[in-house]
Amino acid sequence: MILADYHIHTTLCRHAEGEMEAYVRAARRNGLKEIGFSDHAPVLDQYDPVHRMAWEEFPVYVDAVLKLRETYPDITIRLGVEADYYPGFEHSLETLLRRYPVEYVIGSVHFMDGEAVFRRGDTFPDPKENEAFVRKYFDRLTRGVQSGLFDVLAHTDVIKWDFPDFGELIEASAARLFESVVRAGMAIELNTSGLRKKPREMYPSFRILEMACRSRIPVVPGSDAHRPEEVAADFKKAMDLLNTCGHLVSGRSAGNLMAFHQPPE
Ligand code: ZN
Ligand code: FE
Ligand code: ZN
Ligand code: FE
Repeated sequence: MILADYHIHTTLCRHAEGEMEAYVRAARRNGLKEIGFSDHAPVLDQYDPVHRMAWEEFPVYVDAVLKLRETYPDITIRLGVEADYYPGFEHSLETLLRRYPVEYVIGSVHFMDGEAVFRRGDTFPDPKENEAFVRKYFDRLTRGVQSGLFDVLAHTDVIKWDFPDFGELIEASAARLFESVVRAGMAIELNTSGLRKKPREMYPSFRILEMACRSRIPVVPGSDAHRPEEVAADFKKAMDLLNTCGHLVSGRSAGNLMAFHQPPE
């Protein structure tokens, strides 16, 4: 059974619902022993202010998590963030991590030069442009991984959302990306939110999850909840998938997070 959910948002990001306390209660109802809030990290200079809390709001977030810890001592509540990798804005995240007791960072790429990597509506008319876009996504992720700022790689193949025809390229790119993930000592997440979205499958896909297993990359579970009902969503399916591709529960191996990976022979 999966006992932790490390990818949970809050209303501070302006596109989630429900009190933070409601997320904690939902986690307890689902029998989780541990959760981590990982709301979208603010960025200095108000970069992409639409999808995240303001820089000045970060202390409010930190205090809320610390307070919930006191109210609910029966569940471990961790302070995390999901941070976009924006080249040139590394100093912003570094500053945040220096100032606040953030326990882990989930690194993701949602936007590239102001353009969303998913929910594009339609893709480019020229397949060459589509291919270039997918490659650019993985280049950005690789640079993010190499920045050393992240502990967990978010929804590796989220780009499949609007580029379902590029399955092979996505798998080959993920394989190369995982070499950097291993060198960085990072984990990846198994994010169940894809089941609720257009791809109708988790991030990453089964085949990419298998690659992670072969490379002995720890896997951290996350629902990417943007409402309390989504906490631990489809975790039974996630467990089955992890079992099928050979990941075994082995306690805390991704930093101090509960992770799944294949133990060394
Ligand atoms: Zn979000
Ligand atoms: Fe995300
Ligand atoms: Zn594994
Ligand atoms: Fe998220």
